[in-house]
Amino acid sequence: MSVVDRQEWDVVVVGAGGAGLRAAIEARERGARTAVICKSLFGKAHTVMAEGGIAAAMANANEHDNWQVHFRDTMRGGKFLNQWRMAELHAREAPDRVWELETWGALFDRTKDGRISQRNFGGHEYPRLAHVGDRTGLELIRTLQQKIVALQQEDKKETGDYESRLKVYQECTVTRILKASDSGSAAGGSRVSGVFAYDRETGRFFVLEAPSVVVATGGIGKSFKVTSNSWEYTGDGHALALLAGAPLLNMEFVQFHPTGMVWPPSVKGILVTESVRGDGGVLRNSEGKRFMFDYIPDVFKEKYAESEEEGDRWYEDPDNNRRPPELLPRDEVARAINSEVKAGRGSPHGGVFLDVSTRMPAEVIRRRLPSMYHQFKELADVDITAEAMEVGPTCHYVMGGIAVESDTAAARGVPGLYAAGEVAGGMHGSNRLGGNSLSDLLVFGRRAGWHAAEYAAARAFERPEVSDLEVDTAAAEALRPFSAEGPVGGEEDGRPPENPYTLHQELQQTMNDLVGIIRREGEMEQALEKLAELRVRARRAGVEGHRQFNPGWHLALDLRNMLLVSECVARAALERTESRGGHTREDHPTMDRKWRNINLLCRLADPTGGLAATDPERGQIDLVRETTDPVRPDLLALFDKEELVKYLAEEELYQ
Ligand code: FAD
Repeated sequence: MSVVDRQEWDVVVVGAGGAGLRAAIEARERGARTAVICKSLFGKAHTVMAEGGIAAAMANANEHDNWQVHFRDTMRGGKFLNQWRMAELHAREAPDRVWELETWGALFDRTKDGRISQRNFGGHEYPRLAHVGDRTGLELIRTLQQKIVALQQEDKKETGDYESRLKVYQECTVTRILKASDSGSAAGGSRVSGVFAYDRETGRFFVLEAPSVVVATGGIGKSFKVTSNSWEYTGDGHALALLAGAPLLNMEFVQFHPTGMVWPPSVKGILVTESVRGDGGVLRNSEGKRFMFDYIPDVFKEKYAESEEEGDRWYEDPDNNRRPPELLPRDEVARAINSEVKAGRGSPHGGVFLDVSTRMPAEVIRRRLPSMYHQFKELADVDITAEAMEVGPTCHYVMGGIAVESDTAAARGVPGLYAAGEVAGGMHGSNRLGGNSLSDLLVFGRRAGWHAAEYAAARAFERPEVSDLEVDTAAAEALRPFSAEGPVGGEEDGRPPENPYTLHQELQQTMNDLVGIIRREGEMEQALEKLAELRVRARRAGVEGHRQFNPGWHLALDLRNMLLVSECVARAALERTESRGGHTREDHPTMDRKWRNINLLCRLADPTGGLAATDPERGQIDLVRETTDPVRPDLLALFDKEELVKYLAEEELYQ
């Protein structure tokens, strides 16, 4: 019989980044008693690191902008693989979500006439990113936290308790989504009943029971060696959803941001914001050439400047000139940098040069890019007002994610489960445009909170039950690293346990080298073999000591998630025999229209939610192809026919 502490809520939100907080606010405002649980400190999430801004067609900097243009840019950026209804909702609703933030206390930078200022970013036809210097995410999170505190103060007045309707559990990690035990089995039943979690400081286990769970856990970057992501982005939400029975969509699409720091080694991968290029920064190779002019792909030829002069004129007169190719979507720029370095025209530390020092006065650089100025000064002793930065691609964002219904953010196949933000798939297709994540978090965070609250309200009198058996199974799984020397798979084999840090390093190296920015069939097969080996070894990942703050134990638990997610990425990348957006195959270098309407869904091979314990060498993931819904005709009509011919499959064109 389980003695794990249990608490009852209507909605549990896993993750306190922009998506999670926006979902929690919405759920609470719609009357649901809501718990937010996050792995890091409250206020520390990827969202806080967002620099460049939030994309919304507010038309403040160019009156021609509107939701239709934003929708078009987003679809082009995603190479038409976007779940189009999500792209539509996002483009339509983003301006309202930005305004709403201001009504809650955010203060964006202003134009001279007092409107919210908007800056240029790659792939956006008009200046569209509302920003607060290069610290936009900080303002976003600060505002959402302030709103949460305001709601808690209201609750205190009414109920005498700040946390009666909205409570944050910080530094707590969820390891399983629980499901109502219709069958009484360890794997649970069909609908969500809550989450199993542990407190990272004390190691104490607890259960939050709820009919609705919103997953908003962000990305997967820590599966790769060079990444802009911080320690907590181990693909937990992706894995939790898979284990609960929900499919993941198009996991092959991982975004390698073109500009991460490359030197010194200790900071390799840290992001250099796209605002540097948006504000006029240029990329040069070791010969001093602005090489991006050589890398404009056919699909974008008409939209980008042919000469440096035209590109430079665009900053002053965008209506009569075309934008410079430094502002192509991220996948294009990352590939171009990779090619320059490979051709021997890289910078001394294996990147290329990004220069603002010759493009703007020093005081403007310090005002517009304060974080970048300090980042380079303090971490690399480089003064970006006087010299060029060295930059190269870094794993940044995952476009693939939990397959959701566009309007409701409901995860497919698991009643009561919702997903929003980076962990959800579909919105960005094969490549996300900069700035479109922050707006995605708010638009779909709100929708997830709204529908999760409605779902819970409809089940107020028939709350799903959490079974003791399921809780005990989750507890045993979490405790396994403490007994890794004991029986493995039922056999006493006497070998010493594996070190989780070693396993993590090998995993990161494998993903970086074999499933990275440029992919090849043979290498991905090798990666899958290595993942199988790591999976077997990870079952023996062992830690010493006890449950009180024990980072080795935390990592041992995170390994399950990273291995699952990495397998999804590798299997899907091997299957998709074309190059599109964030997925580049050297052996299939072009985009193939036949793949335009094909989604790849990853599901857990063991449908009971177990991890194929009897044969850990067998892959854990099954891959299924699915045809996408045809794009609605009025949305297709927003594009020229000539452009559609470049993207759509033959049969779609006829339809
Ligand atoms: P996050 O903000 O990543 O939050 C995830 C939350 O989940 C955290 O609270 C974490 O603790 C919690 N969590 C994770 N696992 C668990 C678990 N097992 N149990 C409990 N809690 C868990 N996008 C833009 O649009 N514009 C930008 O300018 C921009 N700049 C960026 C700069 C950097 C350096 C980075 C890394 C990203 C940037 N992005 C930007 C991308 C954007 O910031 C992220 O995609 C976005 O913030 C993700 O938000 P989220 O709410 O989905 O998740």
